[in-house]
Amino acid sequence: MTNFSALTVAEAEQKLADVDIDASGSVITSAMAAGSLIKHGERVFVCAGPGVVEAVEVAGGVCVDGDDEIDVVVVGFHTTFDFAEMAAAAHALHNGARLIATNTDPTYPTPDRLLPGNGALVAGIATAGKVQPIVAGKPHEPVAALIHHRLGTTAGDAQNFARHVMVGDLPATDGALARLLGFEFAFVESGVTTVEQAMSGDPKPDCVSPDLATLVAQRLR
Ligand SMILES: [Mg+2]
Repeated sequence: MTNFSALTVAEAEQKLADVDIDASGSVITSAMAAGSLIKHGERVFVCAGPGVVEAVEVAGGVCVDGDDEIDVVVVGFHTTFDFAEMAAAAHALHNGARLIATNTDPTYPTPDRLLPGNGALVAGIATAGKVQPIVAGKPHEPVAALIHHRLGTTAGDAQNFARHVMVGDLPATDGALARLLGFEFAFVESGVTTVEQAMSGDPKPDCVSPDLATLVAQRLR
């Protein structure tokens, strides 16, 4: 499950295939979570990448331009964000459109620095539009519902913790989603958070592993 919404499902699967992980049919993105909130026939202004366009169309939504009638504005990470787009989105929100954010991660990590994340784009549009966003991805309810549906699990089932592990590098998103799902939270040290930060974060990890491969090897032993 990724909060990165810009890639189509096939592109996300290919990224994993490139490191020898067959994830076909298993990927869930925050774009899919946003798409699950779109009703058939709604006119959607997509301030986001190709992954959101795909998810909106799968849901039966119609992607429209900023100067058309708009029922929903969906904001996801993209690097072509500009003032004209923000102005069109804000105008639609003033006229009653819903605001859906794929995710509100404040930053987007790259090898040499942290870039502004989708949370920064959403904050600008929500401020100008004078509304609060509905957030679809980690650690919020829409993606939890998609995960339960995909795994066949049920919210509140006491067996969830013993049977399912949410693996991630950020307590605020991965850990909080684990808690919402009732799953174990396995923290991996291979991401953007140190184990010291994770242990003083909220929620605290149930398990710490150097990386995903080690965790899987331990669990399958
Ligand atoms: Mg991560």
